[in-house]
Amino acid sequence: MPFDLTIDRHYLQYQEFLMECFAHQGKHAVGLCKVCARGVCRDCAIKAEHSLACSQEHAAFAEKLTEVQFASLGNAQLYRAQRYVQPLASLALIALGLGYLYAYDDDLFGWLFLGFGLLMGLTHFFPRRKKKS
Ligand SMILES: [Zn+2]
Ligand SMILES: [Zn+2]
Repeated sequence: MPFDLTIDRHYLQYQEFLMECFAHQGKHAVGLCKVCARGVCRDCAIKAEHSLACSQEHAAFAEKLTEVQFASLGNAQLYRAQRYVQPLASLALIALGLGYLYAYDDDLFGWLFLGFGLLMGLTHFFPRRKKKS
């Protein structure tokens, strides 16, 4: 997790408790505009997807922001999945190479698959250290 959601939520609740609407003085804010973080009351708040906004323009922007957030969340999950793809692919290639060698005896493709699979496995389990310049 890149950041602690529970702390963030408590902080927001604390802010909501203290804040009043940016347009109506003395009126209790029900939330914050996702874009400009101003307090908005029940009458001013415009519902954007998964968030609140102070105006129509900010509601549109807030929805774009949410889209980006969800997209990056999806990318993080994809990245996590890719960690398992490489070792699995290398194992599959090694198995394929061994299969070829077993079936065709000294087959070029067999050695190619085997070599490529081993190379993939090695680069995954022993990644090259990045040199600090
Ligand atoms: Zn706003
Ligand atoms: Zn208001």
